[in-house]
Amino acid sequence: MKITAAVATAPQTELEIRELELDEPRPDEVTVRMVASGVCHTDAIVRDQWYPVPLPAVLGHEGAGVVTAVGSAVTDLAVGDKVVLAPASCGECEHCITGHPQYCVDYFALNFGGSRADGSSSFADGSDRVSSNFFGQSSFASHSNVRARNAVKVSDDAPLELLGPLGCGIMTGSGSVLNVLRTSPGESIAIFGTGAVGLAGMLAAIAAGATTVIMVDIVPSRLEFARELGATHVVNSAEVDAVAEIREITGGRGVHTALDTTGVPQVFSQMTKSLALRGRGVLVGAAKLGTEAPFDIGTLLTSGITISMVVEGDAVPREFIPRLISLYEQGLFPFDKLVKTYDFADINAAFADSESGATIKPVLRF
Ligand code: NAD
Repeated sequence: MKITAAVATAPQTELEIRELELDEPRPDEVTVRMVASGVCHTDAIVRDQWYPVPLPAVLGHEGAGVVTAVGSAVTDLAVGDKVVLAPASCGECEHCITGHPQYCVDYFALNFGGSRADGSSSFADGSDRVSSNFFGQSSFASHSNVRARNAVKVSDDAPLELLGPLGCGIMTGSGSVLNVLRTSPGESIAIFGTGAVGLAGMLAAIAAGATTVIMVDIVPSRLEFARELGATHVVNSAEVDAVAEIREITGGRGVHTALDTTGVPQVFSQMTKSLALRGRGVLVGAAKLGTEAPFDIGTLLTSGITISMVVEGDAVPREFIPRLISLYEQGLFPFDKLVKTYDFADINAAFADSESGATIKPVLRF
């Protein structure tokens, strides 16, 4: 069928809206008519080829939409179902079957390979191939074929125009806090970076009962917004020493938990130094392959800290996304405050506003 999609053609180059051909869903796939898709920094860094997804490609990985066709082997979704899309995983490897599909052994191939597992692409531009299956979904398209396994069914009255980011940026920040750091009532947390991922982590920490919530950034307006949303302390690390400030706020002990969403080597180092004895830290911020960060093994050896590298909040999407929706419905996770909507036709403006920091979480409406 003919569909409309935004095609990434080259690094640092605006996406082109084109008419493409979408093939038939495979037995294990559903066709999804996209209602909305979030824009994430990972879309921009893949357009810029930090990760080598073959171009031209349809990117987008925070899709939400309605099932319009169902492959012959799909038993748990039907035409008309509303779905939020999540990253792909095989469902069979040791990490998938033990509840950690974000560490699927085929994760890179399934999400960044530019094709289905069998090497085929679901999109074509005339006789030219266009990469599909970005994060298992390529959601910058009016319609896409997605394995049923990575489509999360939501209720008929769910606000699809809002929910796409639950499949990546919001899931990453909140999942890192709830699933990995397990920030607990009365604990402290420091979050480096107040973008969509950091703020989602902050909202999750507050929902989990954290009582000292320190947000660190270098952009004053973002810090002010974090304070409005519930941060107990904000630190402008362009002006003060973030580690010293965090130690001061916590009476010298350091924080129980910390999250680095920047991927900046010096910030990662600050995070490791801001932790209390036996503190837990997580890195989610993306950096170019080969980036190394200073880590003071001499001093930190005796600290007992744990540092984890985390993908997508180590979430099982079909379990975790409904929990986030439930928290949102109870008013305990107001992630909608991070969202600004754009028409799909304005996708390049959404990318620009995300890059400049003018918008925290752009969501495109089809
Ligand atoms: P964002 O750009 O909106 O937010 C990053 C924030 O970090 C900004 O507010 C920026 O001002 C701040 N920052 C930059 N340099 C800083 C410094 N030196 N000190 C303090 N703050 C600094 O991005 P986002 O959408 O929140 O995403 C954050 C990162 O997470 C990106 O790198 C994205 O690619 C990555 N990501 C990773 C996963 C994963 O599974 N690991 C999933 C989604 C996104």
